[in-house]
Amino acid sequence: MAWYWTLREGDCPGCGICADLCPHHAIDLPPERALPAGIAGACAGCMVCAEECPFDAIVVWQRASGVTA
Ligand code: SF4
Ligand code: SF4
Repeated sequence: MAWYWTLREGDCPGCGICADLCPHHAIDLPPERALPAGIAGACAGCMVCAEECPFDAIVVWQRASGVTA
């Protein structure tokens, strides 16, 4: 099973807390971007981002390997 996170773009003001707190560096928010982006394969499903996002703008989910979205 692989872990992923998805952004609810309409709810995210780009505060950057998730990128700062992700212990696996799976969220990238460089200054030139308005919203966070994912680092492929890096999410470990720890839920820190979803728990700490003040706007509930991140959903973390799991998918069986080999299954396409
Ligand atoms: S913590 Fe939430 S609101 Fe802030 S950048 Fe991440 S997803 Fe967006
Ligand atoms: S669930 Fe954990 S590893 Fe995955 S993006 Fe969120 S903080 Fe990072």
